[in-house]
Amino acid sequence: MGTLVTAELARECVRYAQMGWMRGTSGNLSVVLQRDPLRLAVTVSGVDKGEITAADSVVIDSDGLAVDSDKIPSAEAGLHARIARVAGAGAVVHVHALATVVAAEHWPDGVVLQDLEMLKGFGRQAHEQVVVPVVQNSQDMVELGDAFEKGFDPGVPALLVARHGVYVWGDDLVQARHRLECLEWLLRFKVETRDIFTGRHS
Ligand SMILES: [Zn+2]
Repeated sequence: MGTLVTAELARECVRYAQMGWMRGTSGNLSVVLQRDPLRLAVTVSGVDKGEITAADSVVIDSDGLAVDSDKIPSAEAGLHARIARVAGAGAVVHVHALATVVAAEHWPDGVVLQDLEMLKGFGRQAHEQVVVPVVQNSQDMVELGDAFEKGFDPGVPALLVARHGVYVWGDDLVQARHRLECLEWLLRFKVETRDIFTGRHS
């Protein structure tokens, strides 16, 4: 695994930790190293993301299992691999940002976003209607992956997991972060204006 990839994983984790989106040891990031067979570099389990180093990542296969390593990948690595495969993503980001979980609590059937300039940062036009899917939480990554795939829309690079957090993906870690930053803003707006829009929006 290249040192550039591991250094970037660590650098991005520290940024998310500073934003308050990787509290405790929560959250994890991955980057696709190769497609056939699928291999990803993913952050290891149980590390404080504010203090993570380039040594704290491991190569996994399409089932989220470590390849040629005794290190323990994140428990959520299997879903990273599934998203990378189904969505064709080059990088997947998972954090427990509060606004994403609150939005899933209000709109368990999917969060509708429309007429918001920040949708451009999510790769869409401001006027377009975007529905961010919500799935129920599970400790079983196959079950979560099946739910993700069932509701997958190629135009929506995000998945909300109720009472848990959010997955966002892109071609690389920087694009995924930009999308996540904009999505978190959009969901915060949606939650904070919900009383105003009652009766007009679902
Ligand atoms: Zn999580």
